[in-house]
Amino acid sequence: MEQVLTLVCKLNPTPSQSEKLEVVLHAFAAACNYTNEVIKPQITSKTTIQNVVYEDLRSKFGLAANLAVRACARVGANRLVAKRAGKPVKAFKPTSADYDARIFAFREKDWTISLTTLEGREHIKIDAGNYQRGKLKGRKPTSAQLCKHRDGKYYIHIQLKDEIPDPQPIKKVIGVDFGRRDIALTSNGDSWSGKQLTETRDRYSTARASLQKKASTRTRSSRRRCRQVLARLSGRERRFQSWVNHNISKTIIQQAKSEKALVAIEDLTGIRERTNQKPRNKTERRRSNSWAFYQLRMFLEYKGLKDGVEVVAVPPAYTSQTCHQCLHIGLRSDKKFKCGNCGLSCDADWNGAKMIAALGTSVNSPRGSNGLYCNLSTDSSGLLKAHTVFGTPNQCG
Ligand SMILES: [Zn+2]
Repeated sequence: MEQVLTLVCKLNPTPSQSEKLEVVLHAFAAACNYTNEVIKPQITSKTTIQNVVYEDLRSKFGLAANLAVRACARVGANRLVAKRAGKPVKAFKPTSADYDARIFAFREKDWTISLTTLEGREHIKIDAGNYQRGKLKGRKPTSAQLCKHRDGKYYIHIQLKDEIPDPQPIKKVIGVDFGRRDIALTSNGDSWSGKQLTETRDRYSTARASLQKKASTRTRSSRRRCRQVLARLSGRERRFQSWVNHNISKTIIQQAKSEKALVAIEDLTGIRERTNQKPRNKTERRRSNSWAFYQLRMFLEYKGLKDGVEVVAVPPAYTSQTCHQCLHIGLRSDKKFKCGNCGLSCDADWNGAKMIAALGTSVNSPRGSNGLYCNLSTDSSGLLKAHTVFGTPNQCG
């Protein structure tokens, strides 16, 4: 299997190089718009598109051979995406152009990239920090995207393709419960308290509310200052959250790797419904309707893939109410879980994590001994998803 990492580096073009980049971006967008106009709307195949307009793109827009090929591919790809979303293809803007191995290269000895423009090849210095240097060292990337960001500067998005290790043989399953009280709790018993995070977020939220009020009522200059502070706050809050999520996911994946475990998480497409089951106040709703859980899932998947740890999403429907020992529906109060069938009484979130692990185990052995069946599919992001049908212990003994 392969994993692609996109590395963004700022370019340091000379003024004359900037002009050439600008020309490329405009020609590329114009070529895409032209292609989109002349090719019948239902056609998405890059080869078919190329057969019709390739010569035109070369002569009308002055594109180098492989830039013309990339423009055809871009139109085909955008049409596919638009078709899936049931929307028309958006007009192409002069903000990005695609490059492949024939027209793009990275040179480590002087930290430059070379790009084919409409007037030949240009070597452009890149701003590479330690992170970028570490990732690019010894690499020969073969595809990239030239981009102009909203700051008006030019960037190169370099695709680094890595062979990823085959998933390791699985000896156990670690279930991870994303909760309200704890950000995450594993069936191993590790938990990350949401307390500090919640406090930080609440503090930012209060500050935000007051600033937003000021931003709409005060004088013009103070309104502007309020908006600036707001933008800064949102960045800081986001970075803090990301840092927390990075640490949680890193710890879980490392643990799974050393224990040869599969990581089972809840299918988060349902988390809003679940944590919002009971009517809640505004504060609680804001806490649960966040991108934070989504980001944590993405981090887990990404790091899992890199380290050969399998991550699987299980349906959350019953995890909070089902007893992990006997699979009967029990009683859940806010913190406690009680099972009327087998008498289990424990922390509700921990039972949830154990239940997720049990579901994960049934993924690992579809006719597993724990009486759970699973059908598997892969979602759009490539995450393995389990659709569980509760079996009875009698049926599958
Ligand atoms: Zn029970």
